Amino acid sequence: MSKKAIFPGSFDPFTIGHYDIVKRGLELFDEIIIGIGRNRTKNETFPIREREEAIRKIFADEPRVQVVIYDCLTVDFAKEQGASFILRGIRCVEDFEYERNMAEANKQLGGVETIILYTRPEYAHISSTLVRDLYAYGKNVSEFVPNTLR
Ligand code: ADP
Repeated sequence: MSKKAIFPGSFDPFTIGHYDIVKRGLELFDEIIIGIGRNRTKNETFPIREREEAIRKIFADEPRVQVVIYDCLTVDFAKEQGASFILRGIRCVEDFEYERNMAEANKQLGGVETIILYTRPEYAHISSTLVRDLYAYGKNVSEFVPNTLR
């Protein structure tokens, strides 16, 4: 049976930290569906269709990665996609509590298991928020985003 995971997030924008998690996830899973959640509470910087297009481009040569926009609970999205796993990354202790609660809830709600990868130390400070802030002030963000977005 093929092992399928969703990698849910806002990806506003997709960073090299996210990229690293997907690449490492591909060693654990046969297929990864990057789910871009429509977040009604967060204001978006990059339009969701642009994010979808950009991430597709990054993984154009990787048939085991798909990119899908979703508009429902993450656990329902996982089921809809036939995925038994949720892939997430943890950068720091602040991420930990949040991820643990989400993992617990998603297990309880849908029996979906969350697999956490720790960020590589060199990427631990990289967040979409950092990239958005730099971008807003016209700074060069190329060192924080995958090649195809530079
Ligand atoms: P969300 O809004 O759901 O937190 P994000 O797009 O910010 O979505 O992040 C998606 C996932 O990627 C989360 O599990 C987050 O912890 C992880 N992540 C974010 N930045 C990094 C990074 N630099 N290295 C590894 N994982 C990261």
